[in-house]
Amino acid sequence: MAKVDAKAVAAARRRMDAIVAEAQRRVEPALKAALRKAMTRIAAALSERDTWSVAEMETLVSVVRGALEDAGVYELSERFGIVAKAITKAAADVAPLSAAEGNLLAAAVKARYEGWEATVDRQIIDWIRDRMISQSVEPLDYMTLADEISQHLDETVVQYAGTYAETAISQIERDAWIATGEALGAEYWRWDGPPPIDTSHPECEEYWNHVFTREELEAMGENSTGLPVWPTLGGWGCRHTPTPVDPETAVAERGEK
Ligand SMILES: [Zn+2]
Repeated sequence: MAKVDAKAVAAARRRMDAIVAEAQRRVEPALKAALRKAMTRIAAALSERDTWSVAEMETLVSVVRGALEDAGVYELSERFGIVAKAITKAAADVAPLSAAEGNLLAAAVKARYEGWEATVDRQIIDWIRDRMISQSVEPLDYMTLADEISQHLDETVVQYAGTYAETAISQIERDAWIATGEALGAEYWRWDGPPPIDTSHPECEEYWNHVFTREELEAMGENSTGLPVWPTLGGWGCRHTPTPVDPETAVAERGEK
């Protein structure tokens, strides 16, 4: 006997909107500040020498890694767990969230971002290594190299801070929707959120506004960004969220009896 109805979903939406607004206000500036700090430290480390030889590649890599570690970049998942708790508390002023729900959100968000370290290594450390290796084939002025690395870090840091914050906020929204939907006994979920745009993920393009069971979403496995479709839908950079659908609407939209 599902209790999901349009009124309950509308009330949940108002609640989610308040939580997301609070999250956006708090999370993105905090993350950008942390990553910006790392970038400044790396740029300073790079400028300590005029030249970096290929033999010194590992030294340079460890300098960069050390600067990232000092700025707490590798601890972002931990940091985010703390931020998520703060958001949950703040959101309690504008929307009722139980302490249990809050803890659930914080733990779920933290658990999903444990892959962050590998992303930093792949996108920053590996890029530097590749750039250093390529210069043994094609010699480069080292100051130019330092400028390139600094520029790459600057672009990467800004890009990732944005993606990370956006994805983290979407994940808070999804976790809250799932908690709400489960409390309502939802059997059906809509691939909900803004209509697809040119840069949307392929699965968001295909499934946006469609209604699925949780089992169907789970059976889709990983999305194109390497995260599980349930509960992240399109994964990194995706702004969509599963929202509960009442059974009558679900059956009608799915063309079932
Ligand atoms: Zn999406």
